Amino acid sequence: MEEDSVSVIDTLPVGVRSLLKAYPDFIKEYKDSFLVLHDSSVMLFDDGRIKTFNEKLDDADPEDMFAFKYDMNAKKPEYLQDAGRSRCEPLFKKMYGSNEAEVRRKLVSVEWFGEKVLFTPVNGAADSLRAVAAEIAQYPELKPYLKSSGTFYWRKVRGANRQSAHSYGITIDIGVSNSDYWLWKNPGKAETDSIVYANHMPMQLVSIFEKHGFIWGGRWYHYDTMHFEFRPEILFSTKK
Ligand SMILES: [Zn+2]
Repeated sequence: MEEDSVSVIDTLPVGVRSLLKAYPDFIKEYKDSFLVLHDSSVMLFDDGRIKTFNEKLDDADPEDMFAFKYDMNAKKPEYLQDAGRSRCEPLFKKMYGSNEAEVRRKLVSVEWFGEKVLFTPVNGAADSLRAVAAEIAQYPELKPYLKSSGTFYWRKVRGANRQSAHSYGITIDIGVSNSDYWLWKNPGKAETDSIVYANHMPMQLVSIFEKHGFIWGGRWYHYDTMHFEFRPEILFSTKK
């Protein structure tokens, strides 16, 4: 018996639904536990492995990207909740480029408050950053927080063997002089230790980024408040 497509979509895991909605240019459908891409390759959604906190970051399947809570109402992040730090590397490399040259070839220039920054147009990321800039421009009081300290930079995460989100051209760091980073405030702490939170970025700025598909590093337990990353699937997954 045929089911209508709406009810089939409703029964999919929230992570699958969020990915289908966020990346329609790459992900065609979900079939028999696999994401089917438009180039006909397939990617297992959930490898079924039980992973430690570090494994969820270092060896993420698509399902692991939704293992953490992105809480837009909380005053500060809960212990070890790092939604968005988990990135399925094969998927990101497929979409944005699998090495520095491949990513770089796609990058476009975006006007950012008197600067020009490099960003990827893939998945609408560059246009979303332009929309963020247009909206922020209406609030002159946000000016002190806007100076960019970097977008594209192909590199591994410090102390880890995974690619930084800056490698894909989907990420911008701004307002360094007003920013907080978990290790600056908690020197010598390991990733699973309890740490103290800090933030000096205005929530109005954060809301504008989130409205246009960017997650904020200030919502990570391992906070990085200068960091904004184009991850519409994480935001879609927070809405029922
Ligand atoms: Zn960053």
